[in-house]
Amino acid sequence: MTFSALGLADTLLQSLETLGYKTPTPIQQQAIPAVLEGRDLMAAAQTGTGKTAGFALPILHTLATDGIEVGSNSVRALVLVPTRELAEQVHASFRQYGEHTGVSTYAAYGGVSINPQMMRLRRGVDVLVATPGRLLDLFSQNALKLNKVQVLVLDEADRMLDLGFSRELYAVFAALPKKRQTLLFSATFSDEIRSLAKARLHNPLSIEVSPRNSTVKAVKQWVVPVDKKRKTELFLFMRKDRKWGQVLVFVKTKRGADELVGLLLAKRIKADAIHGDKPQPARLRALESFKAGEVQILVATDVAARGLDIDDLPQVVNFDLPIVAEDYIHRIGRTGRAGAAGEAISFVCADEAPLLAAIETLIKQTLSRDEEPGFEPDHRVPLTGAAAVPKKPKKPKVAGGRAGKNTPRNWVGFDEAPKRPGNRPTSRPGGISRSTGKKAQNQNRSGGR
Ligand code: AMP
Repeated sequence: MTFSALGLADTLLQSLETLGYKTPTPIQQQAIPAVLEGRDLMAAAQTGTGKTAGFALPILHTLATDGIEVGSNSVRALVLVPTRELAEQVHASFRQYGEHTGVSTYAAYGGVSINPQMMRLRRGVDVLVATPGRLLDLFSQNALKLNKVQVLVLDEADRMLDLGFSRELYAVFAALPKKRQTLLFSATFSDEIRSLAKARLHNPLSIEVSPRNSTVKAVKQWVVPVDKKRKTELFLFMRKDRKWGQVLVFVKTKRGADELVGLLLAKRIKADAIHGDKPQPARLRALESFKAGEVQILVATDVAARGLDIDDLPQVVNFDLPIVAEDYIHRIGRTGRAGAAGEAISFVCADEAPLLAAIETLIKQTLSRDEEPGFEPDHRVPLTGAAAVPKKPKKPKVAGGRAGKNTPRNWVGFDEAPKRPGNRPTSRPGGISRSTGKKAQNQNRSGGR
């Protein structure tokens, strides 16, 4: 199949030729005709599948050919994304694809001055890519009217809800015209997303390009059990030993990101961080330097790294496991793009076992463990997944089960005896329950990332 067979305008085909896109990806093959027909869409697609072009191309085609002029302070296509970085990235895609179409595009997000955005919107804009908070600010200050929106795209809808944007989303829905096209993209589909889709989408076409909640196949993933205090040392060792080139490293907190970058810089390793406390220009600079190969190690928190489009990245290291299991899928989606081989390595310490178990439950796969000689943990990481299931289930002789009833299903606690005498696990079996995890997650959202 070719792009021209999909009926896209010549002006778009010209850009695709320049970009070297030859064949539509599976999601593009399904999404483009449906969006051109005017259908609502509910698409399960991970980053790296080409989903952006899947919605951008048909939207640009329609806007370029329907002969409707955008009014002042109006928008014809609204694309909502969870983060500033993704807003920049999606906007850049619209600009590239639409270069010869005459369709105007703009990105508006928080963390930068609102005045230039208000000024630009006066003339109206065909495609506005925005984060929900800033969009509502612009709307409430009358810089923007939403009653002429023809198409709404919710990109990474799961992430927007994770970040607590549901109030903003419902406020946006209330301001939109009832008659419109709605396209919802999400890597994972929770019950909340499904009920949002049920209420706001009209007879949507469901597209699923890879099994729900699955991880990218081309990525080789494994776990290195290690004591928490030795993670930095392990990272430095593996980087040298395996001759890693550029690595994207995920950490749990902003402080953790800054500390790791400080340590790497002290060792004269070119590193930079992106996290929520860094001003937007600094984040973009870090990303650009990483893409240009000037920075070797980019250390990121989940929020900041969401949706990063970095091509040919062979190595992702989860220095800390994510608190929200779904983030694991997004993290490792940075590598193994467009079928390229990639490696995602997770450094897991004993008290992260419940997080590991939750990830393994989500991806329906037990990650293999490979201890690094010389870094075998003193605090054993409890078995998870299939390995944790005893071969012959017997009734426990002693009362007081190991896992708390709220721990993820496949986590059974400290089944493995400590290797050497005197070594004790750092946390009690079942010590981190789901509810504790939730609390940590909330704290993380409010300021941790
Ligand atoms: P996305 O999933 O939208 O983030 O896209 C992932 C990457 O694939 C981006 O770098 C796109 O430029 C690239 N891409 C998207 N569609 C195609 C295509 N049909 N052929 C080649 N590359 C593509």
